[in-house]
Amino acid sequence: MISKQMQDKLNDQINLELYSSYIYASMAAYFDSINLDGFSSWMKAQAGEELKHAMKVFGYVCERAGRVELKAIAAPKIDWASPLAAFEDAYKHECHVSSSYHKLVDVCQSEKDFATLNFIQWFIAEQVEEEDSVLKIVEQLKIVKDAPGGLFMIDRGLAQRQG
Ligand code: MG
Repeated sequence: MISKQMQDKLNDQINLELYSSYIYASMAAYFDSINLDGFSSWMKAQAGEELKHAMKVFGYVCERAGRVELKAIAAPKIDWASPLAAFEDAYKHECHVSSSYHKLVDVCQSEKDFATLNFIQWFIAEQVEEEDSVLKIVEQLKIVKDAPGGLFMIDRGLAQRQG
């Protein structure tokens, strides 16, 4: 069984992952509105991944005889100044998610909750990938600047991502 403190922290992580899904769904809608379908489908796939992350934590809380408490999900932004601005926000958000899992490591250690520590290792490794894939796109967008040809090439590339 997990402590009340750990249960609360894991419920916060569920909310954060659901919020991530919301942000990326909102970004998908933004990209759709500017006719960048590849960017939009990449973001839809990302939103789906975040939902899976939330349900992974959900499953763990239940498995440890904890109680899942779903809280209100904050409304995400709906507009960005450019594709680059959206991906810069996505990168900042992923860094925030990483740091929230890192803080959870401290709680696991202070409570000697080694099972939860083991469980969150997967998320810590996953965050390395998340930061890397988003940052790569940020850097590519910086290379092409506002050149439409470059933007469409990135769009075609992002369309390849499997959902
Ligand atoms: Mg996530």
